[in-house]
Amino acid sequence: MDESQLNESQRLAIYRIQRKVLERAIRGDGLVSSMELLCREIEQNLKEDRALCSILLLDGQRLKHCAAPSLPQAYCEAIDGVIIGEGVGSCGTALFRQEQVVVTDIATDPLWQDFKALAKENGLGACWSTPIIASDGTVLASFAIYYPGPCAPSRLHFYLIEAFSALALLVIDHYRLAEQQARLTAALGKINARLTAVMQVIPDVAIVLDQSGCYIDFSGDTFELITPPDTLWGQSIENLFEPELAKQVMRVARETLATGEMQIFEYEVMTEGERRVFEGRTAIVDGFYSDGRDDAYVLWMAREVTTRKVAEEKAARLALFDALTGLPNRRHAEEQLEHLLEEVNRGYASGAVMFLDLNDFKRINDSLGHQQGDLLLQQVARRLEDQTRRSEMIARLGGDEFIVLLREPLTGKNALAESAAAAARRILDCFNAPLENQGHGYSVSVSVGIALAEKPGLKTEDLLRNADAAMYEAKRIGGSRFAFFEESLQREADRRLDLERRMVQAIRNMHFVTYFQPQLTPGGAVFGAEALLRWFDPEEGAIPPDAFIPIAERAGLIYQLQDIVFEQSCQVLAELREKDRLPPAFRLAINISPLQLQNSELTERLDFFLAKYDLTADRFTLEITENLLMGQQQESFQQMQALRQRGFRFAIDDFGTGYSSLAYLHRLDVDQVKIDKSFIRELGETAAGEAIVDSVTALSKSLNLEVIAEGVETELQARILHEKSLSGLQGFLYARPMHSAALMDYLGQSPQKQAST
Ligand code: C2E
Ligand code: CA
Ligand code: CA
Repeated sequence: MDESQLNESQRLAIYRIQRKVLERAIRGDGLVSSMELLCREIEQNLKEDRALCSILLLDGQRLKHCAAPSLPQAYCEAIDGVIIGEGVGSCGTALFRQEQVVVTDIATDPLWQDFKALAKENGLGACWSTPIIASDGTVLASFAIYYPGPCAPSRLHFYLIEAFSALALLVIDHYRLAEQQARLTAALGKINARLTAVMQVIPDVAIVLDQSGCYIDFSGDTFELITPPDTLWGQSIENLFEPELAKQVMRVARETLATGEMQIFEYEVMTEGERRVFEGRTAIVDGFYSDGRDDAYVLWMAREVTTRKVAEEKAARLALFDALTGLPNRRHAEEQLEHLLEEVNRGYASGAVMFLDLNDFKRINDSLGHQQGDLLLQQVARRLEDQTRRSEMIARLGGDEFIVLLREPLTGKNALAESAAAAARRILDCFNAPLENQGHGYSVSVSVGIALAEKPGLKTEDLLRNADAAMYEAKRIGGSRFAFFEESLQREADRRLDLERRMVQAIRNMHFVTYFQPQLTPGGAVFGAEALLRWFDPEEGAIPPDAFIPIAERAGLIYQLQDIVFEQSCQVLAELREKDRLPPAFRLAINISPLQLQNSELTERLDFFLAKYDLTADRFTLEITENLLMGQQQESFQQMQALRQRGFRFAIDDFGTGYSSLAYLHRLDVDQVKIDKSFIRELGETAAGEAIVDSVTALSKSLNLEVIAEGVETELQARILHEKSLSGLQGFLYARPMHSAALMDYLGQSPQKQAST
């Protein structure tokens, strides 16, 4: 049967019911109300039959009462919650089978076996049930028509059942979808609330960019610090950022879109002159808009990391830069040198390493105190930095040692050497003017050692060692100058190291012996002798003091050597006294190295040996070099003062070779001046030699200082000196330095040589 077979009033009735029910559903009344209306309308329509309608929902596997306005309350309650299945009445079975079940006589139908008593009690005789199944296959409900007695459906009935169950499906589905939507909306609302809360607490700024780099959306609040948010919408980052940064962000955005992978990048923004560092993370957002555009967008989370960045940079600086001067440190310099040598090895560049060591910095540092010394080092660093060129790198190795790396385009050895020499001269010259510290001027000078990396194959440590050796050579030949490293210098450096090791051994084995060189009055009387240390090496033979004293000083072995000299000098005096051969005014001259005068132990050691051998200080003259007395050397002066009070006399050794001039002489609190042998050598050869001797003698005399000429080798020199009325003479012409036993004989054999005082 189809619609065309219905009469007009039947058709109208169906339309009326449909309209009423749909209206109510659309109005938003509850599902139950709509379904109850549906039931009543159908019952009304089939009232001659005394039909009763019921709608049961399927809740999982259970029947759930929905609408059955005319069925007895008790029956509805009994059915509610029953699990569907085969033989669970008409509805339970229909829902279970997912097909229409028509029971014309409940009393006899096996499907009602378990429920027929209940049906009978409630006056129900037939039940036709139809499952309501959604288009997606979900079984939603059953629509049933009951009759008080046995009854079979007519064709019209079937038609009506089909029409009304379709209507029921429409309404139930409507509510189901509405419910689903409400649930989804609620869930979305919760997710949104959660996201909002998250966005509130995270310090990040979230930005959505479209493919052309325009702002689509953003959230987070630190952002307004950079650009006011309301000016951002639709703007391209190219208009907002520096071109470099905009390019970087666009590159990352494109990478994100291309790979779909999260990108992490760091970038910097200057706001009001302040540098701020951000960490950006990007992710792809598919279909940011809900309007069906299927474009992909880029979500860009920006987090300010300035504080962390600054801390990281500081840590990095500390690792690579010297804390005191801010210059690159040793590690940094070595790394750079590695790079430089790589270039040299590939034939891209030439390079040189220069080692700088401040002259006498220890003295300044000790006299000023370390705090002031540090300030001075900072000034030194600034000076060095100021004259550093682009092709150079200056670093502080530690203490008063600096290093300069020179990178030159590939050139020949000579050109490279020239550049390096020019750089070294600049370094030396930058200290021409004294440094200022608390109103005092300090003259600082450096010695520079240069090692060239002009050929491939050199290693970092080689170059550093070579430059260091060259620097020592520069010091050895006078300081305040530069020296190149060469093969011969390396041998020298090796030898120095070797000597140092052997010296320790030699001290233990007593291979050091003090020799004595007599000193005479112009009249030929011996008034003293200079103690000169000798090292007799079993293999190498005699090693001259000029070769080992500087090494001993640097290695800290000088104190032990000086003890040997003191002790053996005291022994000689004691022995002479014992043998009754000690002339009354006989003195020994002892060379004191500058380091020792700074060390307060000197006085203690001298006291110790004087006491041990029961000698007095007036038996000794301490020879010091004039350089030692330059500058402000508080400790040395104090120690000198203390020693003078004990009765030690002082002599200026090698006078005329150091920095001081005659003008300084009166400031020096000494008793004797020894004119350096280089001037004596010139006597009779050049007029200058004699002029120097004359002026030194004249000035010394006026200052009441004794003058001694040393290194007298020839009769001619002796004759000239005799006319100068000096206090004393010393040289090979009279006697060479000799063993103590020989001195014993020398003094014993020639009593006429002794001073007559
Ligand atoms: P100096 O203090 O100038 O010592 C004098 C040097 O001149 C000695 O060399 C001596 O042997 C040498 N000499 C003496 N007469 C003549 C001469 O007529 N002609 C020539 N050409 N030379 C002469 P020496 O013993 O080799 O000592 C060299 C330097 O080593 C000394 O120079 C001194 O500065 C240092 N020295 C030697 N012994 C000691 C020591 O015990 N302690 C310290 N601190 N330095 C020492
Ligand atoms: Ca001397
Ligand atoms: Ca001398």
